[in-house]
Amino acid sequence: LLESQEKWESNARSYPRRLPLAMDKAGGIYVSDMDGKDYIDCLAGAGTLALGHNHEVIKDAVQNVLDSGLPLHTLDFTTPVKEKFVDELFDALPDSFAEKAKIQFCGPTGGDGIEAALKLVKTATGNRSILSFQGGYHGSTHGTLSVSGTLGPKEDIHALVPDTHFLPYPYEYRCPFGIGEEGHKVCSTYIENLLDNPESGIVSPAGIIVEVVQGEGGSVPAPIEWLKELRRITRERDLPLIIDEVQTGLGRTGRMFAFEHAGIEPDILVLSKAIGGSLPLSVMLYDGRLDQWEAGAHIGTFRGNQMGMAAGQASLKYIRENALPDQAATNGAYFMKKLNEIQTDMSSMGDVRGRGLMMGIEIINPKARPDQIGSYPAAPELASKIQQECFKRGLILEVGGRNGSVIRLLPPLIITKEQIDEVLMRFHESIKTAEA
Ligand code: PMP
Repeated sequence: LLESQEKWESNARSYPRRLPLAMDKAGGIYVSDMDGKDYIDCLAGAGTLALGHNHEVIKDAVQNVLDSGLPLHTLDFTTPVKEKFVDELFDALPDSFAEKAKIQFCGPTGGDGIEAALKLVKTATGNRSILSFQGGYHGSTHGTLSVSGTLGPKEDIHALVPDTHFLPYPYEYRCPFGIGEEGHKVCSTYIENLLDNPESGIVSPAGIIVEVVQGEGGSVPAPIEWLKELRRITRERDLPLIIDEVQTGLGRTGRMFAFEHAGIEPDILVLSKAIGGSLPLSVMLYDGRLDQWEAGAHIGTFRGNQMGMAAGQASLKYIRENALPDQAATNGAYFMKKLNEIQTDMSSMGDVRGRGLMMGIEIINPKARPDQIGSYPAAPELASKIQQECFKRGLILEVGGRNGSVIRLLPPLIITKEQIDEVLMRFHESIKTAEA
């Protein structure tokens, strides 16, 4: 099995190259490989599988479309499935945003939704530069990589879109502005100064793109007060704020949308991953005020496929009816508390953080010298070793972050407390072995 897996990997260059897994069956939080070994899936399609694998409501929704005789491919034409999806999504939005929002169906990936948002702010403002954040990740296309702060995926691609500027993100564990309210204030004042001082080189700003919790950048939640400040700063300058909730949306962080924690609203909201209920779909919702582009300004063949919309609607309905955002908040807090307990025992766990069921553990080298703010150097090799040890014990999790040293946990939202205990036990055993 491993041999054939290695052969496929070398041919296919697939995503989790570090995990030699050939998936066979899946249900709930579990997947099994072709030898029948079970794994708990805390990667869950990089946060896509809100309801876990093969949930009945999703299977039924897809089957209903197949049985209905509806066209499976419609370009962007309306169908009953699409109408139902849009109604469900608008019902789930905060009222004040829903009242003014328009929806654009984008290509099937999150990256395409972000591309649409970048194009929309440029069209609507007539301006040309995009402001983004260090450590952010917005996709793998040329345009979205350009606005991604994380260097890893773009290091070898030199000619990225000009007029992109990176602002500091309040990444507390390594924040040069210091921690706590004072540090966040310094960070937002610094951003305000960059925007207002032409010496920063920022001219003609069209919009700012932000993740409320940075995902690939290492599960880094932005402090609530800082988010409020960012909203104030952008409003005062009439600068459209694009909130990328490709990974955080639909309950992951303990609220339906992560921006709700801060009581703010985006001008543009991009959703993907969970919005398709495990099938490919992405949408951009935007303030009608920005609707200054022609129909067809952002096109593409595969926009809003019927099964993605049906699965997405069913999944969103289930999330709402079963209050999964609240459950994610409660279970996320439990998870975090238990991780903090393990942290007291394990010196390589430099920082444990997250919001809801989007958690990160920054792995460090505690024997090295701390930097000037007291944080220890990242330990990407140890993080990888922990990931491998977890894998051996039947636990799939991601390693990410700016330095490749953050263990990332994105379990399905349906995970139970008992299952969380099982994850914690496997993780604890694994990190003990890796540290030894
Ligand atoms: N934005 C964020 C916040 C993401 O996490 C991702 C995917 N990890 C993307 C955009 C890009 O989505 P996709 O991979 O579907 O293009």
